[in-house]
This record gives sequence, C-alpha cells and structure tokens, in this order.
Amino acid sequence: MGFRGLSVKRFVKEAKEGNIKLDEFYAEVFDEVEKLDKRFGIFVTLNKNIRENPEKGILYGLPVSVKDNICTKGIQTTAGSRILEGYVPVFDATAVAKVKNEGGVIIGKTNMDEFGFGTFSTNSGYGVPKNPHDVSRCCGGSSGGAAALVSSLDYPHIALGQSTGGSISCPASFCGVVGLTPTYGRVSRYGLIDYANSMDKIGPIAKTVEDAALMMNVISGYDERDFTTSDRKVEDFTKNINMDIKGMKIAVPKEYFGEGVDEDVRNAVWDAIKTMESHGAEYKEVSLPSTEMGIATYYIIATSEASTNLAKYCGMRYGVEGEVRGKSFDEYFSEIRTEYFGEEAKRRVLLGTYSRMAGYRDQYYLKALKIRTLIIEEFKRVFRRYDAIAAPTMPCIAPKFSEIEYMTPLESYMMDALTVPQNLAGIPSISVPCGTKKGMPVGLHIMGDHFEEGTIIRIADFYQKNR
Ligand code: GLN
Repeated sequence: MGFRGLSVKRFVKEAKEGNIKLDEFYAEVFDEVEKLDKRFGIFVTLNKNIRENPEKGILYGLPVSVKDNICTKGIQTTAGSRILEGYVPVFDATAVAKVKNEGGVIIGKTNMDEFGFGTFSTNSGYGVPKNPHDVSRCCGGSSGGAAALVSSLDYPHIALGQSTGGSISCPASFCGVVGLTPTYGRVSRYGLIDYANSMDKIGPIAKTVEDAALMMNVISGYDERDFTTSDRKVEDFTKNINMDIKGMKIAVPKEYFGEGVDEDVRNAVWDAIKTMESHGAEYKEVSLPSTEMGIATYYIIATSEASTNLAKYCGMRYGVEGEVRGKSFDEYFSEIRTEYFGEEAKRRVLLGTYSRMAGYRDQYYLKALKIRTLIIEEFKRVFRRYDAIAAPTMPCIAPKFSEIEYMTPLESYMMDALTVPQNLAGIPSISVPCGTKKGMPVGLHIMGDHFEEGTIIRIADFYQKNR
C-alpha cells in the first residue's frame, strides 16, 4: 500500500492489523521529511532512530514531532536557543514519555522562537522556518516548525507544541492547521523548558480536530512530578467527535472584532459563526472589557517569570560552556549570556527584571496580577451562560518577512492581543481553519471554560467537517 495521504486513524488501524511495515513506512516518511525540512526549515534536530517495538498503545508507531523546548531523552533539546546547543536531556518530559508509552515515535525536534519568545518564529537561534503556503511569509510562533510540518507533511503525524500566550493557536492559524491549547494543569509540564510557569501549556498541533483529540487522550492527566497538574479524571476526548452542535450557546466577544483586526479575517470568522448557527447553534454578542489590558498584563507577567527562569543559563549547567579561567562568576556569566542569548531573550530579561524590581513591583507586577484576576472573572461570567466563545485566532494572515523586519517589538507584541487572554486565564482553546485571504489561511478560535476541552473539540470537529 502507498503511505502518502494516509490519515492518523487509518494508519493506526492498518498498523494494528499488521498491514504496515514500519521500516518501509519510515523510509518513505523520512525521505519526505528531509525534503520539507530543506525547503521550510522545520527542524532543529531530526531523529531518524526508530526505537524498538513501537507497535503498541493507541498510536502504534505513529510519527510524532516534538517542539524543541520539550525534553527528549537522548535527543538534543535547545528551546531554539544557542545557549542550549549540545544539551542532551537524560530524561523524557512526561508528555513525551506518555507518547512513547502509547507507541508514538519521536521523529525530531521542531524549530521555535528562542524559549518561546516570539510570534513569528523569527527569533530562533537555528534559522527561520517558512510558511509552506507562501515561503515569503512566516509560520507564526513560537511553535512555528510544528505547524509548518503539520501543514506540509502528507503522511500521518501529530505534533506536540507548547503555548505561553498563543504559541499553539497562532502558528496553527497562520499555517492552516488545528492547534489545541489545553486547560492549565491538564497536561504535565514536567520536562518542559519553562518560559512562564503560570501560563505554559503543552498541546497538540494536527491536521484534524479528531487527531488533536486523540493526542489529548495520550498526554493529559495528573503527574506527581508536576504539582500544578489536575487530578481530575481524564475523559475520552474522542467521544466528542462526530456529534452535532444543536442548541449549543456561543458567545461572540465584540472586543475581538475591533480595530486592528483585518476586515477579511473578521468576515471569515463571522461566516463560520453563521455556518454554526445554520446547524442549530445559537450565538450572541457579549463583552469582555478587560481584553484591551491583556497585552500589557501578559507581557509583564510573562517577562517577570521568564527573567527568573533564564537565570539558570550561566554556561555551566546546561548547553554551551566557555573559558572560565581568570574570570569572576559575573564576568563569565555576562560573557556567555551576551554571546549566546538572542536579542529578544535579552530584551525580556531586562523587561522582566525591571517589572519585578523593588520600587516598581507594586506598579507593574502586582497590578498585572490583579488585572489577570479580572480577566479570569470576565471569562467565568460568560461561561456561566455560554458553552463556548468564538473569535478570530489572529488579527491577520501570516505576515511577510519583509513586513516583520520593520515591526517594532511593541508592534509584534500587539499581534498577540487575541491569544494571550486565554493563557492568562488558563482556559482551553482550539484554532481551526476557516477560510482564506489572499490564498492564506485564517483561523477560527473557539474557547471553553476550564476543563471543557470536550466541548470545544465537539464544536471545532463539527465545524471542520460541516463547513
Ligand atoms: N508571542 C507570545 C510571546 O512572545 C507568546 C509566545 C508563546 O506562547 N510561547 O510571549
């Protein structure tokens, strides 16, 4: 049988029935993956070692790519940073261990903005991945390589991405694929290289909502190594596949359609909402007034946490090392970080250190925490009356590299306006393709209440199959 075009579901079925020889399959897959990698710059590290006997569990030998900030035993893990070049973890992140337990095969580590700092994957220390729909455009970030691979690889595969403030949704939207960002605490962060611990989440990027649901079954659940994981029972997320959406109540927040959101994007998302209405869902416009404070709040909290997390990269414990002799610790530390951190990482260390400093803490960090609470309360109020919220994922289609070059840091931070509130609140969301502009994909974002992944999977799957 030919393997190209095989869906995940079909692959697992055929593999279980013994109709797929994994060595033949993987020879073909790697041939293609290497071509795509050359064209689009998808991987930091490829891993062509298929481990022994992956034929088990619910993935049964399925190729899985892993964002490069999630630790993989025996495979270099850099988080897109030069400072971690050569770092080979001696352990697997819990999410990776779970994938392996269910028979997933780790095919490589996908490119990303350094430590997750970015929206276009242009801040990587290992080249810039390109959008498979148009190579003059970015793939979004920070899980850019993951989304580029999902969108270009015509073989069964699911990617693990990670989000602090939209890094699963944004690249999914720009590359025309599905990205699911779970509830905070649904998936263990053990073995994830932290960006901002109070917001980081690992989640799947896949071609279909159904594939994303399957991966959620694999990676979710309590982990004694991460005390922020929930011990709530993990439901079978695939139960929400192929359901209807009759009578479901969808809130449409007006702040997500305001100035700065491209008209074509607005129209595509409204069309999607009307389509859902025509299938029996009900919608109503609502207001989430704190949305406009999301960016400021997010960037204060995210950089504050990031600046402390980055302190451990001192050129001694992980990754690169330099010449120590004759230098004080401070000299050595500064020298290594000056050389191996990128510009954006340095900017964020400075911003975060500033907002946590005695004298400024009350004005910035503590204030941001209060606004975060407001944002959570506003979402909770809406979810008391609605099953989900629908909005554009990103305010525009994937920008061109020539446009990104001229953006100020603040202008690029503003691009995250519609994706940071969910991470601040810890709620789940899913981005699903909903039309195009200039041939480039547009993303519909469906958000749910805490631990309501099932609900947003149900709606997104229905929409993907009935649009
Ligand atoms: N673009 C956002 C940032 O740079 C989000 C990144 C992420 O989710 N890792 O912080």
